[in-house]
Amino acid sequence: MADRRFLDWPFFESRHRELAAALEEWATHHLPVDHADVDAACRGLVTALGRDGWLTHTAVDPDAPGPIDVRSLCLIRETLARHDGLADFSFAMQGLGTGALSFFGTPEQQQHLQRTRAGEAIAAFALSEAKSGSDVANIEMSAVRDADGFVLNGEKTWISNGGIADLYVVFARTGEATGAKGISAFLVAGDNPGLEIAERLDVIAPHPLARLRFNDCRVTPAALIGAPGQGFKIAMATLDVFRATVGAAALGFARRALDESVARARERELFGATLADLQLVQGHIADMALGVDAAALLVYRAAWVKDGGAPRVSREAAMAKLYATETAQEVIDKAVQIHGGDGVRKGSVVEALYREIRALRIYEGASEVQKVIIARDALAQ
Ligand SMILES: Cc1cc2nc3c(=O)[nH]c(=O)nc-3n(C[C@H](O)[C@H](O)[C@H](O)COP(=O)(O)OP(=O)(O)OC[C@H]3O[C@@H](n4cnc5c(N)ncnc54)[C@H](O)[C@@H]3O)c2cc1C
Repeated sequence: MADRRFLDWPFFESRHRELAAALEEWATHHLPVDHADVDAACRGLVTALGRDGWLTHTAVDPDAPGPIDVRSLCLIRETLARHDGLADFSFAMQGLGTGALSFFGTPEQQQHLQRTRAGEAIAAFALSEAKSGSDVANIEMSAVRDADGFVLNGEKTWISNGGIADLYVVFARTGEATGAKGISAFLVAGDNPGLEIAERLDVIAPHPLARLRFNDCRVTPAALIGAPGQGFKIAMATLDVFRATVGAAALGFARRALDESVARARERELFGATLADLQLVQGHIADMALGVDAAALLVYRAAWVKDGGAPRVSREAAMAKLYATETAQEVIDKAVQIHGGDGVRKGSVVEALYREIRALRIYEGASEVQKVIIARDALAQ
């Protein structure tokens, strides 16, 4: 059983402790799933997470709109990541893919949330382009207004759930101004005939991922989310909420690596004692436990500040994501070391964690981008 003492920290209310206990029970019975076919695995996970109510936390309830509880999001991501990286991915994308609708959608647009919250529709967030990953204000994909609505042309890449999503939130240049102020957000159905899956992308921790091509992709005026030219603001506001949750996923991976290492150190015998008796190994374990707790403090601090009503938590979320993902990489590397040859054996838990953690230091703002956010804030004080 993973360390649960952090749940007594003052960031949480009793409903959070109940949520964590109930999800732990659910995850123990349902995870991990078979990853052989990642598309099928993710579809199955979204169905199961929706059926059992967990996805209601990812988006606002269209019939009773209220704020999304970021502490719940983080607790769920941490728990799912500790049990199965693909389960965390499937949960997280339902939130990131619909954040624009939760925060800026019209009541009609928000009706789509009924299906994503129930696990009946899969969502995706399509912002990145080949030339504009970190530099998102320079995206080139165009959306041109005509008598019937908008016509979208261009490409998006690295789109999670690309190929299996039922709805995509797509950011395109509408040209109200240059740079960040000339981008708008659109809701595009997965079966729109102008949307083509140009390429499926394979990465070290496989999940559904694609390059999308938009070829005279027509959408009605009702597909516009928020006002024209607000797209960049919508993307940043969405990331502001979900960025700390990437830290929570990293925390889940790190906590699992620590648990696996403690178990291994206790049982593995060498030099007439156990691995746990070696002080250099104890040093590794101490570093790992310290990193996990420090990451947890930053992640749940960011979530707590947001839930307290802060309009933006860019600094806190950047600190949480940066520290938790970078530290998880170090914690997992130590776990591989403690496991010796078994640590690099394909199919072992720590080998999978070693692959799972890497992309989190790159997506939703690479670590260097988080440092820029933190430094700008510090210099502005
Ligand atoms: C597994 C995975 C899933 C993804 N899912 C999605 C998704 O669902 N939707 C979506 O829109 N995008 C998604 N992305 C894209 C992701 O957000 C981008 O890969 C990321 O923003 C980096 O962009 P890039 O790959 O173009 O790298 P670049 O922008 O070329 O950056 C390369 C490197 O340059 C450095 N760098 C960047 N900016 C700075 C800076 N200001 N100062 C110093 N150094 C810097 C960093 O080390 C960075 O890693 C995903 C990516 C991956 C790998």
